[in-house]
Amino acid sequence: MQDSLGRQITYLRVSVTDRCDLKCSYCNVPGRHLLDRREILALEEIERICSVFADLGIEKIRITGGEPLVRRGVVDLIRHLTALPQLQEVTLTTNGTMLDRLAPDLAKAGIKRINVSLDSLDSSRIQSITGRNVLDNVLGGISAARDAGIKVKINMVVLADTTDGEIDAMIRWCGMSGLDLTLIEVMPMGPAKPVSPATHKTRRGYLEQRWSLNPLCENTGGPAKYVRVAETGGKLGFITPMSACFCEGCNRVRLTSNGLLKLCLDRGESIDLRSILRTGGSDEEVAQAIMTAIQGKPPGHDFLAALNQAGSVRSMSAIGG
Ligand code: SAM
Repeated sequence: MQDSLGRQITYLRVSVTDRCDLKCSYCNVPGRHLLDRREILALEEIERICSVFADLGIEKIRITGGEPLVRRGVVDLIRHLTALPQLQEVTLTTNGTMLDRLAPDLAKAGIKRINVSLDSLDSSRIQSITGRNVLDNVLGGISAARDAGIKVKINMVVLADTTDGEIDAMIRWCGMSGLDLTLIEVMPMGPAKPVSPATHKTRRGYLEQRWSLNPLCENTGGPAKYVRVAETGGKLGFITPMSACFCEGCNRVRLTSNGLLKLCLDRGESIDLRSILRTGGSDEEVAQAIMTAIQGKPPGHDFLAALNQAGSVRSMSAIGG
């Protein structure tokens, strides 16, 4: 599938729920309307849409949310998706709170790599960011995943005046633990406090002085650019929506938990695939709607404009980050 700007669309992020067991300060919009059960796609509906996407050339699916592991039956869904021969990979992004219990089943279902969101190694800071004291729980989940043979990458959102002071400690810990780490620039969505591109660039400059960062050419299909940290041997990624836009190479679209196809994380346009399914539409009709929609994929996000506006009502948790 190619959009009107010649970008190949090969990556689908699928939100299986808008619920999350954590209330991260930069993600959760307090009082946000939660979808009614009937509005959320059934697992069979998700599977059917994913199968159509796979026939259209999607190679990689990432399961996300909300918190994907709170959705009952998600492991079965993953097992069915990993069996689709057209897909090269099915991965998962999780906050890790339920991993200690589910890691062996996820491995058996065919998951080989996951991203675990972990912004701090300080339990009181985790409590203040997420609303729960879950650090030990998440660390236990990471160990369980690794014991089950799943490769874990840590995603850390860099927040001004909070987690930004912990980047060095996180680089050291991930290096020592043999975990890849990606630093994500906080995006002005939901209640997130905006941070200017200049601040992000200054921080990157600091890291380049503090550590020996050797660029890596590898591309995992996402927007991260990777370096090897010479001092720790660890792999470090940067996702830079604010300081270095990567939209010209964007290969992804998103399916929300209520069946909307979103063409850009930051843009409002979406196509209702659920209503096609629930009015008896065929797979061909779903495929046609997807292909037409892809032609309208916007050239890029508009996060810089959002920097000057009051907080956005759209949160990552509701859309599927
Ligand atoms: N619950 C899962 C988790 O925590 O990984 C999956 C959903 S969560 C919305 C996906 C990712 O989005 C997490 O890594 C989270 O930190 C990130 N995220 C949420 N709001 C963000 C924001 N405003 N800017 C940057 N990243 C954000």
